[in-house]
Amino acid sequence: MATGQPPAPAVPPGSGWPGDPADAATPVARDPAAVAALAAGASTPEQLDARVSVCRACPRLVAWREEVALTRRAAFADQPYWGRPAPGFGPADARIAVVGLAPAAHGANRTGRIFTGDRSGDWLYAALHRAGLANQPTSVHAADGLRLTDTRIVASVRCAPPANKPTPVERDTCRPWLVRELELLAPTLRVVLVLGAFGWQALWPALTAAGLGAPVVSRPAFAHGAEVRAGRLTVLGCYHVSQQNTFTGRLTEPMLDAVLARARELAG
Ligand code: SF4
Repeated sequence: MATGQPPAPAVPPGSGWPGDPADAATPVARDPAAVAALAAGASTPEQLDARVSVCRACPRLVAWREEVALTRRAAFADQPYWGRPAPGFGPADARIAVVGLAPAAHGANRTGRIFTGDRSGDWLYAALHRAGLANQPTSVHAADGLRLTDTRIVASVRCAPPANKPTPVERDTCRPWLVRELELLAPTLRVVLVLGAFGWQALWPALTAAGLGAPVVSRPAFAHGAEVRAGRLTVLGCYHVSQQNTFTGRLTEPMLDAVLARARELAG
């Protein structure tokens, strides 16, 4: 979406960005206690998405996401950047949750939708489309018409981190948003597909806090193809769709297709 507008640190809530769940009245979390309170008090997925999308509780990540939005990558110099946290994407009554690491600086931090506008997203949404879980194979910008079926994608940390590496404190500060997301999905959720070891480690305490059942093996090790029962859920491990994995052949399309097929099978 080229506009030629001068760079800004973030899109103002409710200013017309496609899919923006927030408005000027959405309460803003500015510290970990406020994240916990606002997450716990979100009574609907829409309210949760709105509150996530304006969160400012991690000073380092807020500074980074806004710095990236101000400086922009040369290829996107004529585009406004979202510059805010990326909320979950997909139906609120999904049976499959896909849990990733965090938004990409020039992907979701630019487009406002998770895994949208970068090579990782190209891989993931093409695979979801092959699996019958997305209506189109591409995910370019927030108004491109993409819809998911029975699948909701969330990040374990909702702001783009420098070098794609959130700190443990940032991961823990963001956890209440993931916990509430899991609680709201609980009535329909059957499968959690985790992309990469960071999301895998972040998931277990969130599952426990959401009351969705401890795993049979405490904190099982991450592996591609791992399958762990956790209460009435099944947690699947998959290598992350990062370019580090897809360019090197560590994760191939057939490998990703097989995990998604298993998720569909388990979800019924
Ligand atoms: S990482 Fe999570 S808790 Fe921290 S500012 Fe972003 S949305 Fe808020």
